[in-house]
Amino acid sequence: MISLQENISLSNYTTIRTGGPARWFITCKTEASILEALAYASSNKLKVLTLGAGSNLLVSDQGFDGLVIQVALDHISFKDSGLVVAGGGVNWDHFVKATCLHGLTGIESMSGIPGNVGATPVQNVGAYGQEVCETIVQVNAINIKDFSKRIFSAKECAFAYRNSRFKTSDKDLWLITEVTFQLNESSLPNPQYDELLKSLASDPLWSTGDRFQKIMTLREHVLKIRSSKGMVLNHSDSDTYSLGSFFMNPIVSTSEKVRIFQLAADKGLPRQPTAHSAGDNLWKLSAAWLIENSGIKKGDMIQSARVSTKHVLALTNPSNACTSDILALAAHIKKSVHNMFAVELIQEPVFVD
Ligand SMILES: Cc1cc2nc3c(=O)[nH]c(=O)nc-3n(C[C@H](O)[C@H](O)[C@H](O)COP(=O)(O)OP(=O)(O)OC[C@H]3O[C@@H](n4cnc5c(N)ncnc54)[C@H](O)[C@@H]3O)c2cc1C
Repeated sequence: MISLQENISLSNYTTIRTGGPARWFITCKTEASILEALAYASSNKLKVLTLGAGSNLLVSDQGFDGLVIQVALDHISFKDSGLVVAGGGVNWDHFVKATCLHGLTGIESMSGIPGNVGATPVQNVGAYGQEVCETIVQVNAINIKDFSKRIFSAKECAFAYRNSRFKTSDKDLWLITEVTFQLNESSLPNPQYDELLKSLASDPLWSTGDRFQKIMTLREHVLKIRSSKGMVLNHSDSDTYSLGSFFMNPIVSTSEKVRIFQLAADKGLPRQPTAHSAGDNLWKLSAAWLIENSGIKKGDMIQSARVSTKHVLALTNPSNACTSDILALAAHIKKSVHNMFAVELIQEPVFVD
């Protein structure tokens, strides 16, 4: 028999510490309790919100008039040949650390990303050149409407840059209970980003260490770089009271990239945005560069919401901001980038009302 809590403030369950109350709330540690909670929601015609660690959720100040199910399935199982299965409620960084300690590669560059395993397929989490879609082999889920179970292959998840079917066509339809990853037992870590490579170059363990030492060294360097940007959760650092990157890096065509580069030159800007290839004739531009060069500075505030003092892509709640303050700051940034570069920034976190 499940027991629901009533009127629970979601500001206690989001890393940005904003959001009104959930009408009903339950933490589920078993699939049986998830099924019971879904049946309750269905018979009482309640909307359902699946909650992980709230690190990508911007909840309206009015709250959520339905049932929030916090997924707390927390098993990890190491199979043969680098196959690892993790419950949807396992803390992502604990999982990454465990796989590194087992000498497995494939997700080490995503060390320090907040949140739980079950949310990683939703927006195809990624950092420093790795994305979960490269290692996920299957996603087990329960249908929120008819309670059926389904196993999705990676292909069926329709992964894309910070996107998947779980964020688009099937938004709020599936509750992810378990994810299976195919990691590698023999390959060396293969870091991609200049900043990370530069940091590793100064560490003798990276050049002389054995394979295991290289994996652990890379993880330490990722955590160090992320912490310097406020991208690892830390109670004593209000720059981490955020949702990580608030905007996605815009994907533009080659002609659009040329237009923006020319605009930067015409405006006498010292540099151009970093551009990484994102497929045929497509480029991923740095949203941080666009924001910085639109006149937004680290630490800028609107009402009680603040741009992180470490990274312009993170919007933060230093003390008593509410969601409407965060939205006002986001709107100001979007407008500034649009006025300067005619580029539409897209919000990364999921908005809940
Ligand atoms: C400081 C900071 C740094 C960050 N850095 C990165 C980064 O480098 N790269 C990156 O990609 N992201 C980053 N993020 C964003 C965030 O960590 C990821 O999106 C993470 O996967 C969210 O996990 P969560 O458990 O907190 O999900 P939540 O915020 O609880 O939920 C996010 C979405 O997933 C859904 N969801 C959650 N759990 C499940 C489930 N079990 N089944 C189905 N749907 C579910 C929710 O309904 C919601 O739509 C960062 C966030 C912060 C705060």
